[in-house]
Amino acid sequence: MGQDRDRALVHLQWLLEAGADEAIGEVAPDRLAPDRLAAAQPPPSAPQPSAASPRPDGGRPAEDRPPPDRPAAPPRAKRPGAGDAVAAASRMAAAADSVEALRAALAEFDGCPLKATAMNLCFADGNPEAKIMLVGEAPGAEEDRQGKPFVGVSGQLMDRMLACIGLDRSSVYITNLLFWRPPGNRTPTAPEIASCIPFVERHIELVDPTHLMLVGGISAKTLLGRGDGILRQRGHWRHYQHLGMARPIPALPTLHPAYLLRQPAQKRLAWQDYLSFHRAVRDGLDPVTGSAIRAG
Ligand code: URA
Repeated sequence: MGQDRDRALVHLQWLLEAGADEAIGEVAPDRLAPDRLAAAQPPPSAPQPSAASPRPDGGRPAEDRPPPDRPAAPPRAKRPGAGDAVAAASRMAAAADSVEALRAALAEFDGCPLKATAMNLCFADGNPEAKIMLVGEAPGAEEDRQGKPFVGVSGQLMDRMLACIGLDRSSVYITNLLFWRPPGNRTPTAPEIASCIPFVERHIELVDPTHLMLVGGISAKTLLGRGDGILRQRGHWRHYQHLGMARPIPALPTLHPAYLLRQPAQKRLAWQDYLSFHRAVRDGLDPVTGSAIRAG
């Protein structure tokens, strides 16, 4: 009994270290079950007629041919490719005419593979009427559990920093670049990001903030289309704009609170960013041009 428990704990520890820190179903799937193994086989390759010895069965040697009494494997459904997912995301996002419709469209959308392993859709928190919008990276474990962005420890630090410049969740609107948690908080892949981007762009368009804060390197790099790291980008206001937007939105990249928790000495840089953000919002200024913002 004690040994079984110890063995189970060792396995759990191994799973945790591999990033599998959530149970996403009541029953563990048996990936070695015969039907799963059959489904995982590569599709049969096209017949390769051999010039030397053409054979009516397509040239496969007899040992590769299925025995005549075995039923043929059913044709496998074509998995949507990354391009299909982005096209579907663009269509669905464009059709959403309100923030609530966008949330509903995302709940229907199956093109991001992260949805299969996440517990909840993590769409947004705060006030959708606010003129300040923050875009983080991806939900973590607590955000996945609650279905709300930035509610874990890094979110609590962010709340404290926002409070220092007079903001809270009733005066800001918060979302992420990804709407589902990457397993074990791993870095999201390019196709995962690409499948969410049309929704993020439409989200920003619908909320139409006067100022954007891009929280963390992935958010800043993706939305500003710049290759340089967050330590170079932070503190520099730039315009965020994509096709179809009436006007550019001043956007300030800043350090991610999870990074600040690991590197507390860097909080002084984040503090400079928050003060710069505060001044721009208070004065209604676009710090990129130095002119007053004409809200839409
Ligand atoms: N980190 C993020 O970027 N977003 C969250 O929602 C939580 C942690």
